[in-house]
Formats: sequence, C-alpha cells, structure tokens
Amino acid sequence: MPDGTESESRKLLRRLRDTLAEPGKGQERLDRITHIIADSMRTEVCSIYLFRDSDTLELCATEGLKPEAVHHTRLRVGEGLVGRVARSARAVNTGDAPSAKGFRFMPETGEEVFSSFLGVPIQRLGERLGVLVVQSREARQFSDDEVYALEVVAMVVAEMTELGAFVGEGSAMSALHQRPANFRGGAGQEGVAAGHVWLHEPRVVVTNPVADDPEAERARLNAAVDELRLSVDDMLSAASLGDPEQAKVLEAYRMFANSRGWKRRMEEDIELGLSAEAAVEKEQSIARARLQTVPDAYLRERLQDLDDLSNRLLRILTGQGRETGAEMPDDPILVARNIGPGELLAYGRALRGIVLEEGSVGSHAAIVARALAIPLVIHAANITAEALNGDPILVDGEQGVVHLRPEESVRTAFMDKIAMQAAAQERYASIRDKPAQTLCGTRIAMHMNAGLMADLPSLQGSGAEAVGLFRTELQFLIRNKVPRRAELAALYSHVMDAARGKRVVFRTLDIGSDKVLPYMKREDEPNPALGWRAIRVGLDRSGMMRMQLQALIRAAAGRPLSVMFPFVAQLEEFAAARDHLLRELDREDRLNRPLPRSVEIGAMLETPSLAYAPKQFFELADFISIGGNDLKQFFFAADRENERVRRRYDTLNVSFLTFLENIVRRCDDTDTPLSFCGEDAGRPVEALCLAAIGLRTLSMRPASVGPVKHLLRRIDLGEVRGVIDAAFASGDQSVRPAVMEYLRGSDWAV
Ligand code: PEP
Ligand code: MG
Repeated sequence: MPDGTESESRKLLRRLRDTLAEPGKGQERLDRITHIIADSMRTEVCSIYLFRDSDTLELCATEGLKPEAVHHTRLRVGEGLVGRVARSARAVNTGDAPSAKGFRFMPETGEEVFSSFLGVPIQRLGERLGVLVVQSREARQFSDDEVYALEVVAMVVAEMTELGAFVGEGSAMSALHQRPANFRGGAGQEGVAAGHVWLHEPRVVVTNPVADDPEAERARLNAAVDELRLSVDDMLSAASLGDPEQAKVLEAYRMFANSRGWKRRMEEDIELGLSAEAAVEKEQSIARARLQTVPDAYLRERLQDLDDLSNRLLRILTGQGRETGAEMPDDPILVARNIGPGELLAYGRALRGIVLEEGSVGSHAAIVARALAIPLVIHAANITAEALNGDPILVDGEQGVVHLRPEESVRTAFMDKIAMQAAAQERYASIRDKPAQTLCGTRIAMHMNAGLMADLPSLQGSGAEAVGLFRTELQFLIRNKVPRRAELAALYSHVMDAARGKRVVFRTLDIGSDKVLPYMKREDEPNPALGWRAIRVGLDRSGMMRMQLQALIRAAAGRPLSVMFPFVAQLEEFAAARDHLLRELDREDRLNRPLPRSVEIGAMLETPSLAYAPKQFFELADFISIGGNDLKQFFFAADRENERVRRRYDTLNVSFLTFLENIVRRCDDTDTPLSFCGEDAGRPVEALCLAAIGLRTLSMRPASVGPVKHLLRRIDLGEVRGVIDAAFASGDQSVRPAVMEYLRGSDWAV
C-alpha cells in the first residue's frame, strides 16, 4: 500500500473519530461523515444506506446526490448495486455503473452522471447494518488499496452505529438493540417461556475503533496473539495427555492461531488506522459473512474455528468476558450460537428457555434440553448479534418463534398463553394418581422417557408408571472420554434407586448418525442416519457394548433388569445382541457376583424391515418398543433432522397407521408386550389414535403424561376406532381431519 494512502487513511479515520467525539445530533453526524469521506477519498459522492428493517435499505445521508433523496430512496436487499452489496456482503467495484449487472436507475438521486461506483458492506460480526458507497464522474475502477481503505472506513462506521452515534432527533435511525425483533426458527423442544436474555458468550463492545499510534496497536495485537497461542498450546497439551482425538481437532485450531496470513491482515488494518480490537473484528466480520455462504462442511468448521479464536482474541484485548460481572437474571433464557451438552448441563434447570442460532433437532444440546424439559428454539438466525444481556424475551418452542424486546400487546398475548398452560398443568396434577382409563374401560399404561439422573424425580411428579425408555447415550455424550464401567454401574444403580421399584427400561448405547461421541473417530458417511449407528456399532465393536451390559447387570444386583437394543433391523442382530447379554450374565454368575432378580430383553422397532421379521423375532423378544421418530423417517424416507421435510408427512397418515396396526397384530399373535416410545406418544391426538389401533403402553416426555391422560380419560376408544375406520375407507390421506372433527364435537377439551 503506498505511503500516501496510509497516512490519508489514518487522517480520515481520525477525522471520523473526532466527529464521534463532537457534540451533535445523529443526522448531523451522518451528514458530516459522508462529507469527510468524499473529501478524503476525492470522490464526488459518498452515501450511507442503512437497514430500515431486515429487508429494506434507506439512503440516510449523502454528499453529492440530491439531498431530497435522503430518507426517501429505499431499496430492497438484492435490488440495484447497493442491494447487491448488502446481499453478498462483498464489495462491488465498477467503472461503468449503469452497465453493471443489477444496476437500477433511481432518478430522484441524480446519480446518473456518476460512472464509477464502489460500495462496501457496513457490518459488524455478521450483523448487516448497511452499505457505504462512493461514486465519481470519472469512469474508472477503484484500486485495491481504495477498496481496502473504504472497508476499513465501513468498519469504523459500523462501530459508530453500534455505539449509537447516529441515533436521535432528525435521524431515521433508532438505536440498535432497542427495537422489538422477531425470529422464526425451528422447534427444538416444546414449551413456552418468558424471561430475560443471558448470552452464553457476551457481546464484546469496542469503544475505540480508531487509534493514533499504529506502533502501539501492533504491539498490543502481538502480545494478545502470543497469549492466545499460549492458551491454545496449553489446551493442546492437556488434551494430548488424555484424548488424542480431541488433540487432533485442536491441532487444526492451533494452525489457525499461528496463521501468518490472519495476523498480517490485522496488521494491515492497524496500519490504516484501526485499533487492534477493531482490526480483529473487521477480519472476523469478513470471515462470518463468508461462513454464511460456504457450503462445504469442513471449510465451515474451519471458519468457525477462526471465529472462535477471534472471540478469544477480542476478550484478551478488551478484558471483557464473564468477568465483566454481569449477573445472570432470575429468569434466564440462554441465547447462544451453539452450545455443547456439557455446558448446557452445567446451567441445568436454572434456564427458562434456550435459543440457538444453529443446532438441530437431534443435536446433543437438543437432547439435553429435551431431557431437562426446557423450551428450545433452534436456527434463530442472527439472534446473538441482536440480543443484549438482560433484554426481555419470549420463547415459543412449539412454534419455533422468539420475540425479543416484545411490544406490550405481544407480551400480553404470550402471558395469557403461559397462564392457560399453567392452569392446564393444575388440571393434570389433579389426575396424576388416577389411571389413564378410557370411557370404554381400556387402560393405557403411561410410561416416561428419560436420559439423565435429573429426570427421575419426574417419575413421581408426572404420575408415570415406569421409565419406558432410558436413553443411555447422554452419559457418553457429555464426557470427553469413555466412562468407566464402575462409574456407569453406580449411575444406573442410582437411577434404579430413584425409580423406587418402578420398571426402568435401559436402552443400550444409541450413537452414530447425529449422536457423535467426542472421543470416537468420526467416520464420514454419505448418509449417517442410514449408516453405522446404534446396534450396528455395538455388534462391530462389542467391547463397549459388553462393558455397558456388565455395568447394567452389576447395577441391578438382585433387582429386575430391563434392557432394550436400539435400531434392530433383523432377527439375527437382535439374537446376537441378546447372546452378548446372556454371556455376560453367565460370566457374572461364574464370578459369583449377584445377578439381577429377573432379566427382560427387548428390541426397538425403528426400521420397517423389523415389522416383517420372521415370527421367531417376535417370540424371542421379551418386549418391543416402537421408536416412532426413526421408524417414521424411514417409512416416509423423510429425514427427521431436515426442517424442509420433517413435518411433511403426518403420523396419522393412513399408510403409516395401517403399518403400525400390522405391528400391533404381529405382537398380539405372539403375546409380545408392545409399547410406543417416539415423540408422537406424547402428543394427545396422536396418542389417542395409537391407543385406538391397539397400543396399550405409551412412553413419552414427563410433561406430556398429563395432557395425554387427560384426553384418554374422556374418550371412548371404540368410537375413535370407528372414526378411523371410516377415514380409512373414505380414501383420505390422513385420519387427522376426521378425528379432529370428532373431538370438536365432544367435550374433550374441557
Ligand atoms: C425413536 O427413534 O423414536 C426413539 C425413541 O429414539 P431416539 O429418538 O432416541 O432416536
Ligand atoms: Mg431412535
């Protein structure tokens, strides 16, 4: 970069900083800034467009275009060259704007006389704030140095926006982070919650984007990078002692921390007049913008590493972090980009709700949230950029909707919904100790699903009669190394103690697919859900499965033991897994250890093939539980993790119900006890239909026991069966409309 540009740039940034320091109204400042930039860059025009709402940009200040266009000219994202900059988050540089792709003529601005156009995004950490444009009459491309310099200026404008420099009388801008904002994401865990934001990683505020002394800033950056590298080295040596796999991941991380390119770019930013922290943020913003457009999973992960390192570096430079002393509110709703299961468990039930920018329905965080019954919304794009600690927030985990800083009317409607749910909970408490007996006298056994020690108190609280599914993988997922047998035996024993004699069905390790153990080498599979998972891993690597079976046998010691194998696709697999358990029992017996009082060995029916297994399978299994979540995804060939298809097919679809009915019949033929433990068992209307086609045991989240039982107790299953049969005969695709119609006609909702 030529010397002249360097000092020009630094001079320009200093002038911008002085503007920030001078008293003045928001609009005056914006006007002054466009004047200074145009003057310094020697262009006839400088304009600032800021987002009015998430989709509209407004010309907020200009030097050189017609003043009457200010606050009148608006563009949608993607519209015109300015909209193109906003959409792509990249610079557009052209010497002949009218012929450039996407150019849109806006007569009110008088810009037709300006040939050259350079626009750069104004963005801060992935949050798009606007577009900064310079234009001139002379038809020429701007040089790389000029583009770079304007990007640095845009960074300072972004920081000024963040600091509220343009808010106030006469300005169209209201302060950032004050307006209500709604987010539509995905439903991760049902339930509604109201509370205040608690950011998992608090936002770092840069108050000094411009610095006078590049020498001093470079020294600060160097010292911070050294500290960062040392801390990564420490992490690495700690990991390589116990965990070679994690060490490998950290190696890649260290490579980034030591990357010369990264540091060089930040030093160049400093050279142009940015402070060390603003330079870190500038590079981080660019990486984040790129992150949103990179389809390659590996590259995305690497960019994520870079983002993580930048955050650490910012905290070192600013001294900001948890130690800022922010206090967690009494009603915290956790807001994060993503969070690991261990970290989430550390917060535990203190949280009222969770909102993630990333995550997925089957992610570890979602599993933990579900186990803790905390409402969770996933895929709430950009919420970490928008939310501040302490902001009021409403979370609807059912709809996947979040209201940040809600209007009063939204808040009132939401609180009504919460109150209605609380009233319903009270109603459910009154039937807690009553059986789920229908009007026609059929009893449906209500079991609950669990996965943590912390779930067990719900066994008494919900009125569930047993734990129909204890997912054992959580204990494996939240550790960074394989748990030891004695540890597991103690845990399973505690679970049985806490169940106070009620039956607990332990499902053996169901890993693979979305549930990846941090300490197990990840196999890249084209279709992980159809891949090497659950019992397939257990049989191929039987050491881990046998260790778990031994732990279960030891935990039971004199008590009944129920073990269930997940994801069985054919008789042979079940027989082989069962043999492992029998052999372990034999071995324990030979070692003179106390054996369980009785042992039941069951299978989860989660693949369509098993429904058509030979009769011997149904005879061999002591019990069968339908894993409806997986079974449904394979039946309809619709990924349960994929938001685009996961709700596409109704559980009450005639084909699926007919298929389930066939399973009921096959179990009846061999007198094999059958239950249903997928999420649908906890949805009242679905549960009702499952009971109507013959299921007599349903296992669900504890919070669902009340609502399902409430409905079952008011229903005549024979009548519902009649409605279903009529719907079957009518050629309807789903029985839902007919069943809902029937329910509307009865008093079930009372
Ligand atoms: C299921 O597939 O329905 C089930 C209960 O197991 P998971 O959700 O843990 O895969
Ligand atoms: Mg399953």
